[in-house]
Amino acid sequence: MEAPVVIIGTGLAGYTVARELRRLDSTVEIQMFTGDNGGFYSKPMLSNGFSAKKTAANMLTQPAVKMAEQLQAEINTDQTVDAIDYAHQTILTRGVERSYSKLVLAVGAEPIRIPLQGNGVDAIVSVNNLSDYHVLLQRLEGKKSIAILGAGLIGCEFANDLCSAGYEVSLIDPGPLPLGRLLPAEIAEHMAQALLAAGINLHAGTVCSSVESASDGFLVSLQNGTKLHADVVISAVGLRPRAELATKAGIKVNKGIEVDRYLQTSEKNIYALGDCAEVSGLHLPYVMPIMQCARALAKTLAGQLTPVNYAAMPVVVKTPLFPLAISAPLSSNGQWQFDELGANGTKAIFYDDQNQPTGFVVSGDRVNEKRALEKVMPAWLA
Ligand code: FAD
Repeated sequence: MEAPVVIIGTGLAGYTVARELRRLDSTVEIQMFTGDNGGFYSKPMLSNGFSAKKTAANMLTQPAVKMAEQLQAEINTDQTVDAIDYAHQTILTRGVERSYSKLVLAVGAEPIRIPLQGNGVDAIVSVNNLSDYHVLLQRLEGKKSIAILGAGLIGCEFANDLCSAGYEVSLIDPGPLPLGRLLPAEIAEHMAQALLAAGINLHAGTVCSSVESASDGFLVSLQNGTKLHADVVISAVGLRPRAELATKAGIKVNKGIEVDRYLQTSEKNIYALGDCAEVSGLHLPYVMPIMQCARALAKTLAGQLTPVNYAAMPVVVKTPLFPLAISAPLSSNGQWQFDELGANGTKAIFYDDQNQPTGFVVSGDRVNEKRALEKVMPAWLA
């Protein structure tokens, strides 16, 4: 009997590839392994759940047993995979070897921890899964002030959500403006104004140097000399692909686990997708690329070799204080042109050196132009 298709990871990437594969093949044996409890939830909701009063329990859409029934798959929860032996086509979990015919790595990414001084550092919370969210909710109970390290997508979304839920928020970033790595400065300035107007304390152009426990929370010291009190400190400085398992197995890793357009790693019969993977040089840790990869990979696993294509895939930023959709240009060679530049709504298009539109930002009243604009953007992987 042929060994099963084994999927490591039950996040969006793992579950979507399993669902697509089951749709194409009702008999193939699918085994899944996960280090967590295997519950299915929408990860993007983690950064806008507070104002909607969502608990971790009501964010869970399906527990692992229900997923197993739906997918007709064996789901092994709380079972971290410790090693891969590609020569023998086995994985090692809880000291037991399990065979695979095809192996899919969907192991996600992990929060980056910046080195900081102080005895409060271990209490800093990063939110990258449902149990992190549960921990954060517990820490927030009865508390008032929050310091958020990092004003990228996730930091800004948390700031917006927690501020709307009534918390006092301080947002700290080394760049001069929030979302400064994704937005042209003119629009990032409007974003900053919107956050400030809502009462968010923006500490731009500086970094946190230490977090010390205090009798009533934490003392957060910034490199520019500012000292802040915070009841809870959240780190949102970024995620890095979880690649250790692959590296240990001798699978090639660059920014993420390297895969080609067929989601094939450097080793035969081993594939990767989602936040852990770098697809044809692109590491895009977002929902839409995962869906494209999962559909293509499921076809390949079902026997129909299929490359992934990426259209331009804008990200909608969940900051109702300043509605925003961004389709970041893949290369920074070129310049932004503003169709209109106003605090209430802006459309900006990035033109490359050949004067071709390759990226855009729409904000405020003009966010609904996203669909029309994404259609005229060139494909990222044609
Ligand atoms: P994960 O969901 O991290 O799943 C990884 C799985 O691998 C887990 O089940 C884990 O237990 C398992 N695992 C890891 N190592 C092992 C091992 N050794 N053995 C067994 N199991 C293992 N994207 C958008 O497009 N729009 C948004 O608005 C948006 N908002 C976001 C908000 C937040 C707060 C965050 C954190 C992300 C957001 N994203 C958003 C990104 C998006 O949610 C992710 O790209 C996506 O959920 C990643 O899915 P994944 O399956 O690759 O990884």
